[in-house]
Amino acid sequence: MHKKFLVAAAGVFTVLSLLIFVVAQRAVGETEQIVSDQFNNQQLIIAQKIASDISLHFSFLETALLTFARGSQKAMAATEDPLKDADPIFHALPDWNVAAMGFLPQEEDLPRTIVEGHEIREEPGLDLSFYEQWAAHPHNRGKVFIGQALSPQRGPFQHMRVMVMATPSYLLPADQEDSLQAPRFIGLSFFIVNAMDIAERYTRNVRSGKTGYAWVLDQEGVFLSHHEQSFVGRDHIRVRQERNPLISFERINELAKNHLLRGEEGTDSYISGWHRGVIAEMKKFLAYSPVVLQNHQDMTNLWSVGVVAPAEEVSGLLRDLLIRQWTLVGLLLFVVFVALSMLLFVSLRWSQTLTEEVEKKTEHLRRSEGKLQRETEQLKESMAELVETREKLIRSERFAAIGEAAAHLSHEIKNPLMLIGGFARQVSRSFPENDPNQKKLKIIAEETGRLESLLNDVKDFTRPSRPQKNWSSLHGCVHRTLELMEDETNERKVQFETNLPENPPLVWCDPRQIRQVLINLVKNAMEAVPEGGKITISSGWDEKRVWVAVANSAKGMPEEVLNNLFKPFFTTKKKGTGLGLAVCHKIIEDHHGEITVWSREGRGTTFTFYLPLKTDDAEAQEEEKQD
Ligand code: ADP
Ligand code: MG
Repeated sequence: MHKKFLVAAAGVFTVLSLLIFVVAQRAVGETEQIVSDQFNNQQLIIAQKIASDISLHFSFLETALLTFARGSQKAMAATEDPLKDADPIFHALPDWNVAAMGFLPQEEDLPRTIVEGHEIREEPGLDLSFYEQWAAHPHNRGKVFIGQALSPQRGPFQHMRVMVMATPSYLLPADQEDSLQAPRFIGLSFFIVNAMDIAERYTRNVRSGKTGYAWVLDQEGVFLSHHEQSFVGRDHIRVRQERNPLISFERINELAKNHLLRGEEGTDSYISGWHRGVIAEMKKFLAYSPVVLQNHQDMTNLWSVGVVAPAEEVSGLLRDLLIRQWTLVGLLLFVVFVALSMLLFVSLRWSQTLTEEVEKKTEHLRRSEGKLQRETEQLKESMAELVETREKLIRSERFAAIGEAAAHLSHEIKNPLMLIGGFARQVSRSFPENDPNQKKLKIIAEETGRLESLLNDVKDFTRPSRPQKNWSSLHGCVHRTLELMEDETNERKVQFETNLPENPPLVWCDPRQIRQVLINLVKNAMEAVPEGGKITISSGWDEKRVWVAVANSAKGMPEEVLNNLFKPFFTTKKKGTGLGLAVCHKIIEDHHGEITVWSREGRGTTFTFYLPLKTDDAEAQEEEKQD
């Protein structure tokens, strides 16, 4: 039962732990989602900031270009060299990533270009005719055109990613008031801007999370800046595929095509094949924001700023946190489990001890109950014994008194009785045979004789002589008795049967008294059976005692007779004395033996007496002899 309970407890605990684990795992998933979203939103803010910085940069450049154009216009108006005042402006501009500045006079093919403070009289490797057309349009007066980033194949800007910023220059009338003279388009003022430097400038030190970085794509999908120097100036699709051909960059390519290069802003994630020094397939979070440089007719010139960081940044951070959290939870669960187990163990032990104690007490109680019962029974037995002893005592006291009286009476009566009998016989002799008095005298003689034998019986009963014990054979007693009674038995014509096994043990007894017992029993048996009836005398023994039984057929005794046997003077016979069995009882008692009766009406009666083989007085006698 204890085992079952333990198994159930462990099961419940396991299920609970699993449940907690599942719920916690789900919470972790949700937390990770929230934290990832948060992280990417932070990245987006960085991307927006970079985009706005770049926008500001170009705003400044627009202003600078317009200022430069105005200077050149003034110079032209004064018929001076339009690049006369360009120098100071130019010196300030490298800080703003302007690679060159110049002026393309109308109807001239070669622009006047200043690179690193010197005017170069050569083709700059850029076709400016498009810008010139744009500038010539009166509608665009006072505006700045920002051209798309491109890589010149020749000239001083070869291998650079540059952009042309252009604005039209007009010759204003010297007198502003003279409105009749319309301003005249005279050429194109332009900057050649290093796009990669600008992009680099605003992304260089950006860090998202621990290791995340920013990059900038131009409208053609070319990296203007990237943490990997080798990526800069190259097509993002091609460079990625070259770097790790095993990975599909479908996702980022699709993102770039449909979102980044369309000027959208947002957050997402994709699979990348590296991060900083590490080359491995990994998930990256991406936030992107556009820099719209020019929205002119169909041509949209825009860059896209991307901020990326490995998802590991977030989950790694979370993992550390979770490991700590789970360690704590595990520890707690362990402690709870141990505490519960200990509690369970102690309580089980306790209940077991309790049960054992209760069982012990119950057993003790049961035993004491048994003991009590035994003692009660013993007490009952002792009580019964006591009552019996008391009755015996009373009886023996009473008998003693009666015995005294009877002895005295029989002594007093015996002599006159003998005299009466003697006289009656004498007188009878003196009368003739046929005298009528003869009959009366005979009755007197007979009755006195009967009274004499009664007195003898009474004497036997009241003043029994002390037994003269010796080692004798009970069989001897039986044979002697039958000899003594031969006359009577012959007269009565009863059948005698003896069943006496050979070599009986000797018994310490008074053979004369035992003969008396046998005579009384045989007499009663003869008186009970009809003429020709059967009397059986048998004997037997075990290691403790020897017994002799006198059985007779016929009749048997009714209940009330059986109940009164052995009581002195109880008789059912007309001429009985009721002392025979009482004398037997007394003699057997004096021999420490026992006498019993079995009787069934219509079947017969058996009297059995038992004598012990070993008695205290026999041993005493033996010792006496030895001394
Ligand atoms: P008594 O022989 O003088 O009557 P006992 O003491 O010898 O006195 O016997 C008492 C009574 O026990 C008898 O009167 C008789 O009724 C009954 N009794 C004794 N022995 C037998 C016997 N063997 N069968 C039937 N009754 C017996
Ligand atoms: Mg008798």
